[in-house]
Amino acid sequence: MDPTNKPFWRDRPLEDLSQDEWESLCDGCGRCCLNKIEDEDTGDIHLTRLACGLLNIGTCRCSDYANRQAKMPDCVQIDPEKVRTLSWLPKTCAYRLVGEGRDLYWWHPLVSGSKETVHQAGISVRGLARSENGVKIDAYWRYIIKDFERED
Ligand code: SF4
Ligand code: SF4
Repeated sequence: MDPTNKPFWRDRPLEDLSQDEWESLCDGCGRCCLNKIEDEDTGDIHLTRLACGLLNIGTCRCSDYANRQAKMPDCVQIDPEKVRTLSWLPKTCAYRLVGEGRDLYWWHPLVSGSKETVHQAGISVRGLARSENGVKIDAYWRYIIKDFERED
């Protein structure tokens, strides 16, 4: 806790967080690990329920976080700049919330003290995601879902 008694995510901008603070800010929802399809004609981005092959769809955590960039070159490494520019980053993403000057929701592990609340609140992709493994690219459109906007 900071001397101002504010939690770190309310006290400093994303750029000023330590590596540990940055990592702890991830709520473990797994939403950013769902595949997106871009419509070539309109540029619209459609969300699917197909998760990256490295996502553990039970825990909603990356199964090889340390080597994710080597194993999945398309994995987007979130940084403060990307938080400002990635339109598909979920509205509930803790980085986005903090970047917009908003507070975390009750279900965020840093607030609740439990990694389970992000699942209990229906925010994570548990029960929704299916692994992309074994699914042909031209069948991805079958898995398009409407973005789930629930926040609290
Ligand atoms: S959407 Fe944001 S908070 Fe959720 S897993 Fe991805 S980076 Fe973490
Ligand atoms: S490599 Fe890991 S962090 Fe990156 S999209 Fe896949 S599951 Fe998510």
